Amino acid sequence: MFSIQDEIGCYMACISGSGLLPIISASVLLALLLFGSYLGAKGPKVRIYSFTAAQLCMLISIGMVVSSMHCSRMLSIEIYTAYAIISTVLILFLPRIYYIVLIRRYGARPIAEIMEWPQAFVDSLGKMEKSPGTREVYYYDSAVPRAFASGKAIFLSMGLLEIMEKNELKAILAHEAWHLRHNTRTPLLRQLSMITFTGNRSENELEIMADIFAAELVSKNAVESARIKLG
Ligand SMILES: [Zn+2]
Repeated sequence: MFSIQDEIGCYMACISGSGLLPIISASVLLALLLFGSYLGAKGPKVRIYSFTAAQLCMLISIGMVVSSMHCSRMLSIEIYTAYAIISTVLILFLPRIYYIVLIRRYGARPIAEIMEWPQAFVDSLGKMEKSPGTREVYYYDSAVPRAFASGKAIFLSMGLLEIMEKNELKAILAHEAWHLRHNTRTPLLRQLSMITFTGNRSENELEIMADIFAAELVSKNAVESARIKLG
């Protein structure tokens, strides 16, 4: 009869008997460290690489576990299924809630605390949509002019607020709001990083579309002068 205790006992015996236990433990540990680095990384490239590497380490560990099994494979299949479900949930869900981590990390505050219109402007964009969702505008203390969006939030640095005219800020907000609205069209790996508004616009289809939206809503000049200031 199937007993989970027997299964685990056999499982442990198989793994330790195969001599792979140190490598498996090291690989799982490495995966956890890489995942921690993914959560803590600021640079989009570091985030993408550490996430991918963490996934690979986990898959290699599971592969080694499965290959060292001699008893019933029930538990392997269950562990693999659990891992597949958890990582799918993480991949689909984490980018959507990651902005909560960002708010803490940057010590971001709702922008309404210092100025009223940006949140009202973003709310008014939301009302034009079929399924309006709430999008919050935050500011954070940094002299580096920077704007980015993640999940349900748009982040503006103090440095950005200082150098931009109202129309330029509107253009940036419209651009970022467009990204958030079209998040499902953003490639997965880009969702894992942050969507930034930078001076050097890459020839990226999404960037161009976000700019077109901002230009229609505010003005082409505002989009361009905002980009020049960030240059
Ligand atoms: Zn963009």
